[in-house]
Amino acid sequence: MNKTSGHHESGTPTLIDNFDRRISYLRISVTDRCDLRCIYCMSEDIKFVPRSQLLTLEELYRVGKNFVDLGVSKIRITGGEPLTRRNVMQLFEQLGQLQGLKDFTLTTNGTLLNRYAAPLKAAGINRINISLDTLRADRFLRITRKGDIRATLDGIDAALAVGFDRVKINSVILKHHNHDEVADLVRFAQDRGMDISFIEEMPLGFVGDHDRATVYYSSDQILMDLQKYYQMTPTNESSGGPARYYRVNGSPHRVGFISPHSHNFCDTCNRVRLTAEGRLLLCLGQEHSVDLRRVVRAHPTDDEPLRQAIIDSMQIKPKGHEFDLSAKPVIFRHMNATGG
Ligand code: SAM
Ligand code: SF4
Repeated sequence: MNKTSGHHESGTPTLIDNFDRRISYLRISVTDRCDLRCIYCMSEDIKFVPRSQLLTLEELYRVGKNFVDLGVSKIRITGGEPLTRRNVMQLFEQLGQLQGLKDFTLTTNGTLLNRYAAPLKAAGINRINISLDTLRADRFLRITRKGDIRATLDGIDAALAVGFDRVKINSVILKHHNHDEVADLVRFAQDRGMDISFIEEMPLGFVGDHDRATVYYSSDQILMDLQKYYQMTPTNESSGGPARYYRVNGSPHRVGFISPHSHNFCDTCNRVRLTAEGRLLLCLGQEHSVDLRRVVRAHPTDDEPLRQAIIDSMQIKPKGHEFDLSAKPVIFRHMNATGG
């Protein structure tokens, strides 16, 4: 039997790679554009992909639907800033109708949530991650190069008011930029009933702001900092992502660590990523990819070649990433193009 096209007990086809990892999670980047310019994510003068090269919303839906038909049960919409894509709600509404989709999530910088939180909930988004690296307006401006913290804070309030199953904060921590705020960020999240994950910066693309090795601040260091203020109890829980979680002072809300450098998470990798141009990336830290845009456009009415291309892509999913902060970036695409 071809492993990649096997069926699990429920009869749903499964996607299994050459290292026996079951792929159940698709992240879709709906645009590489963004209303912010975070210093760890992109350079200030970044050139975006011409709009004509992006998958249309209909094509994005087609790819998402076929992944769900092949057993993917979790989709995260990301970018760039997904909520800046014109008419993007149409895609949320369509994907939200898919029967096999059990977990439908969004990663956003929050600036447009004031407007979109309620329609997103209505479309079926059940969990939402909002990026917030600092609580100070001046630092927010420095880190995002152009953002007003008020918009993101209002967006967080709007998401909380709508009542998603979970709202989580994502914070990228950089030494000398925001490392002294980790305890405050945890308090901010806990006070509002949110989880928070701390993320180590990954060397994706040239960002023209800082030397990544000198601003590296490890998850272990953050944990030690937090232990000065809080009782941190490790848990075995997973949200289907790469984070390791702790509970704080017995509270139900968690603190997670996404640590590509200090704790490699590739062994349990269950995901693939679709870029806004329709390139299926098999690994965040490697260039192995399949051009699904070509397949979708060559076969506008027949989904079978698309399904076969997805099944075949499992053969080239690499064992893991090889991030090295001391070397020049070997991955030239930025996080906004990858769909972080
Ligand atoms: N614009 C949305 C946002 O900021 O949440 C979604 C896209 S953004 C690329 C997704 C996540 O990737 C964010 O939490 C962001 O902080 C994180 N990110 C961006 N560049 C990164 C990098 N070089 N290393 C680690 N995380 C990064
Ligand atoms: Fe935009 Fe998100 Fe990248 Fe910041 S991290 S520049 S908000 S895509």
